[in-house]
Amino acid sequence: MIIDCHGHYTTAPRQHEGWRNEQIEAHKAGKPPPPRPGMTDDEIRKTIVGGQLKVQRERGTDLTIFSPRAAGMGHHLGDATTSEAWASACNELIHRVCALFPKNFIGVGMLPQSAGVSPKNCIPEIDRCVSEYGFVGVNLNPDPSGGHWQDPPLGDRYWYPVYEKMVEYDIPAMIHVSASCNPTHHTTGAHYLNGDTAGFNQLMNSSVFKDFATIKFIIPHGGGAVPYHWGRYRGLAQDAKLGLLSDLMLKNVFFDTCVYHLPGQELLARVVPVDNILFASEMIGAVRGIDPETGHHYDDTKRYIDQLPLSAEEKAKIFEGNARRVYVRLSSVIEK
Ligand SMILES: [Zn+2]
Repeated sequence: MIIDCHGHYTTAPRQHEGWRNEQIEAHKAGKPPPPRPGMTDDEIRKTIVGGQLKVQRERGTDLTIFSPRAAGMGHHLGDATTSEAWASACNELIHRVCALFPKNFIGVGMLPQSAGVSPKNCIPEIDRCVSEYGFVGVNLNPDPSGGHWQDPPLGDRYWYPVYEKMVEYDIPAMIHVSASCNPTHHTTGAHYLNGDTAGFNQLMNSSVFKDFATIKFIIPHGGGAVPYHWGRYRGLAQDAKLGLLSDLMLKNVFFDTCVYHLPGQELLARVVPVDNILFASEMIGAVRGIDPETGHHYDDTKRYIDQLPLSAEEKAKIFEGNARRVYVRLSSVIEK
């Protein structure tokens, strides 16, 4: 089985994002939001059959761990109330996709975060996502201010209410920022990769893994700059007397393969143990074009894994085994 652990519903029916704009406009005007628009199963089906499902079939992958559009989370917009209503609408829509295509999509939830608001407010949505919707993880935004980094680092006890819930339900979090509202940080070209790198570094300099021995995080986009700079982080950990970086991080932190060229994948697989790499493409996402050097889509990452000098057993871990291990609830949902 080939499990893509990183997909977003980037093709949702137009009225969904349309309502979001109305909601934020209403918030600015101090008015209540309009009622949420209706969406038929057929409208949803159409966006998937011609979108992510089509790409799955073309590329020979089986299952996508699917969450709301990341740049659309917009935690810097509105306030805690608007974030709660928006996260609820987005997660409900993911649940509908997963119910319509249970063999192809399994859900991960976005959280109703807001800059400066304790993430305690995310607990009811986590409960709903896991207990009602059967989701297997969450996306955690380390910077709800959208590029201004106003909240404490991920090692701070500020985040512990979310970590306690993750451990209680045995669900991992993908560390994933949303859109940048800081013009110095392009959303997908800088802010995403900065978020990945900063998130890793914040956790490294914390006691999160001492306090939550079984907690698991996925650092997307190949780990941002981390694998390329593994020597720097090993040295920083050593200088700070944190012990070996591998001992410190690799029981709890995993990297996905959203790296859009072969040399990048080769480096990832050479630096990070195979047990810590999860296949992912983030298809129909940030980079949608065709690479003129290969003639294939940049985000067709399966092609790069296929070319790595690894054994069939090692590739099976990247494509399936590691995802089942990190998303602990995944296998039981698949069997259902
Ligand atoms: Zn993403």
